[in-house]
Amino acid sequence: MLITLQELELHRVTASETYAPGALDFQETKFRQAEPLAVNAEAELAGKEIRVRGHISGALEAACDRCLEQIRIPVALDFDLPYRPMEEIALEEEVEIVEDELMIGFFSGDGVNLADVVREQVLLSVPMKIVCRPDCRGLCPVCGENRNDKECDCSLQYEDSPFAFLKKN
Ligand SMILES: [Zn+2]
Ligand SMILES: [Zn+2]
Repeated sequence: MLITLQELELHRVTASETYAPGALDFQETKFRQAEPLAVNAEAELAGKEIRVRGHISGALEAACDRCLEQIRIPVALDFDLPYRPMEEIALEEEVEIVEDELMIGFFSGDGVNLADVVREQVLLSVPMKIVCRPDCRGLCPVCGENRNDKECDCSLQYEDSPFAFLKKN
């Protein structure tokens, strides 16, 4: 759904959308959309900016960084963000943009695409490091066994392991 400047000039816009798995493009990321993502949003014009606020809920899925097990990552977030016309960027000091990067969005053309807002906000909210549990032991680098499930007998090749000294004694 496109929230257009044209409509916002007349009145504030409210929107409720549900994005089925696959509806939003997470292909360039390590996340998958396994469940619907729902958004309730309200947009209004604030000068040249479009202010969008709302709530997003649902869940993503990603592989644990250590053991590759798929984990569900619940999403429940509130957002409140001004979107600036892309054309304005050229007029701004570069430094200023870097500072405000996370607090401002940009739109080009006729308005803000709600699907882009949802995708962006969801990606900002999920952790950079994905682990199924804090003490996940990961895959054995030698045999590939998931060490959470099964202890293997491989000798550790990586001597920089914090426990490497134990083996030497
Ligand atoms: Zn894991
Ligand atoms: Zn092994």
